[in-house]
Parts: sequence; structure tokens; C-alpha cells
Amino acid sequence: MSAADQKNSILKTETIVKVITPKEEGLIASRVRDLLRELGENPEREGLLKTPDRVEKALRYLTSGYKKDLKQIINGALFSVKYDEMVIVKDIEFFSLCEHHLLPFFGKIHVAYLPKDKVVGLSKIPRIVDMFARRLQLQERLTQEIAQSLQDVLDPLGVGVVCEARHFCMMMRGVEKQHSGTVTSAMLGAFRTRKKTRDEFLALVKQNSISV
Ligand SMILES: [Zn+2]
Repeated sequence: MSAADQKNSILKTETIVKVITPKEEGLIASRVRDLLRELGENPEREGLLKTPDRVEKALRYLTSGYKKDLKQIINGALFSVKYDEMVIVKDIEFFSLCEHHLLPFFGKIHVAYLPKDKVVGLSKIPRIVDMFARRLQLQERLTQEIAQSLQDVLDPLGVGVVCEARHFCMMMRGVEKQHSGTVTSAMLGAFRTRKKTRDEFLALVKQNSISV
């Protein structure tokens, strides 16, 4: 290869790289670059150079729940049992994005159900929580969707879900009530109709730890 050819092939390589780069930058990243400009920032300054890519990656991860479904998560982990005591999974940490401001809200979710003849692998419950939390959400809907999905999958005597959350959109702007938390609940079946069942669940939620 002559020196001229070599130079040419290097140039070609560079040309290809330049063509590929904008394609590889995600659609979200290029919009974040515009957004930074709109906010009065310079997206070319060192600290912000990789920010659009990072934001895209973060947003895709934080909304990865759209790509999951219940069937894939449960993956056959349903077991027939003769067990009619309450199953409760407490203090499931979650992080979500509020659909009104795309700001985080986060907290703890407590899930309980009364089996009829089926139970689900316990590790599946936090994964169901993650699937719904990693979408743009309202706390009320998040709570409801978790309860309804367990109802659909297990056909239990009842399901109870309590969600305690703090919202950045309330903490950082507007009312700026930093210590106010929001509690939502969804009660289905026996948890709705039987006060005793509901009270038992709520009492277990309030306890700091479950004695085993
Ligand atoms: Zn909000």
C-alpha cells in the first residue's frame, strides 16, 4: 500500500467514524443535548460532554419496566399449596419516576396476599414491584397495578398493597414539604371485605420487623 493509499484509508476510516457517531448517539441523548442548550448550558463543555449519553442510559434503565411482562417474571414459579395464612413481603424498596414531572419518587412497598391454592416464589414479588416502578408512574396506579397483577396471577382470597413514598416533585419544588410522605393502599378480595384481615396486614406493616 502506497503512502497516499494509506493516508486515504485512514481518511476513509475517519469518515466512517464520523458518519456512525451521530447514528450511535441515541434519540434521547440528542434531545438532552438540545435540552441542555435550552436551559442556557453549553453541552460542549467538558463536564457535560457525556451527560446526554448518561441521561439516555439512565432513562432507559429507569423505564425498563415497559419491556417486561408478568408472565416472563413469574416464569412458572407458581406452586400449589394447602396454606391459608397470610403471605407478606415487607419493606420492598422501590424507585420510580412520577409521570407528571419525570422526577423520582421512592419509598417502600408492602405486599400481602391470602392464598387460595397457589403461592408464588417470594423473590418474584420484588421483581413485580420493579417492573411497575420502572415505568412512568403515579403512586396510586403503581399500588393498584401491583395488587391487580397478583390477583390475576394467583387468584388468591385477597391481596393488600401499601406504598409509602416521598416525591421529589414535592420536595424540590412547589410546596417544598420535605418531610411529607404519601401513603397509598390497594385492598382486593378479603383485604377489602374483612376488616380483621386488613387490620392484621396493617399491623404487620407497622411493626419494625416480623418475628419469625
Ligand atoms: Zn410529580
